[in-house]
Amino acid sequence: MISVICPCYNEGKNLEQFYKSLKKVLIETNKSYEILFINDGSSDESLNILKKLKLENSSIRIINLSRNFGKEAALTAGLDKALGEAIIPIDVDFQDPPYLITKFIQKWEEGYSVVLAKRIDRSSDTIFKSLSAKLFYKFHNKISDINVPEDVGDYRLISREVLNAIKLLPENQRFMKGIFSWVGFKTTTIEYKRESRHAGKSTFNVWKLWNLALEAITSFSTVPLRVWTYIGFFISFLSLSYGLFIITRTLIFGIDVPGYASLIVVILFLGGIQLIGIGVLGEYIGRIYLESKNRPVYIIESEL
Ligand code: UDP
Ligand code: MG
Repeated sequence: MISVICPCYNEGKNLEQFYKSLKKVLIETNKSYEILFINDGSSDESLNILKKLKLENSSIRIINLSRNFGKEAALTAGLDKALGEAIIPIDVDFQDPPYLITKFIQKWEEGYSVVLAKRIDRSSDTIFKSLSAKLFYKFHNKISDINVPEDVGDYRLISREVLNAIKLLPENQRFMKGIFSWVGFKTTTIEYKRESRHAGKSTFNVWKLWNLALEAITSFSTVPLRVWTYIGFFISFLSLSYGLFIITRTLIFGIDVPGYASLIVVILFLGGIQLIGIGVLGEYIGRIYLESKNRPVYIIESEL
């Protein structure tokens, strides 16, 4: 059985059409399937539409979360509940074209445990988004012990063994792309062209993406924490050299009173550097704090 996981947040305008094209593809594959819709606290008519769809197709399951937990949490809920042998997370805004599922399954049957879908064309994104994404992947992959493939989203096929491995990762702060990569397994990639969103607006604004990037980096790298040791050494070395220089100069030429400018520059510079260091520490401590509370990632209100 194939499990298709669809997180939905205010997708009333997309759901029906999305379901139709998904169903068409799934029927063509000749496999039994289930479609899990995770209603992530939508405030529009999404839930009612889902209930209506369920009446005509018993392969649909609806997991209704108690509020908006965010896409990563909705996806986690879907992964926890999926029963299939192959699991496919997909966005319902048509940015992940359903026709790829046929190719996913083909590759899966050839023996791959993970089939990734790589966007070959990001022209549907703004220049800012594609540029920042590129920079992010470069930076992230440099400093982390895992390699998150560029231009690959959550849209992919994973086999049951991979899902079981993912379930072993207990963390609350879930950067799904990182978690997917961390577990490994035999992977292949197919390429596709990403369209722009069908209806409605993306809920991922610059601030949310920035936070996602921070989450990604702090989840899979401790480099930002450790780099302060080296910055500290470097600045200490500079200070020491400058100190020796000043002492020697004073010994030779006597006391030189003016120095306001250099003094203020050094104080401000060091103050700034220290605050950045503390900020990075805070970023990690905040995450330790949230993780130590051990709260569930999502709450299910009802399941249909
Ligand atoms: N989504 C969700 N919860 C959220 C935000 C988004 O379940 O809080 C779902 C949304 O319904 C869609 C998918 O996640 O199916 C991707 O969202 P979106 O298109 O807004 O993101 P983008 O494509 O811009 O990355
Ligand atoms: Mg989208």
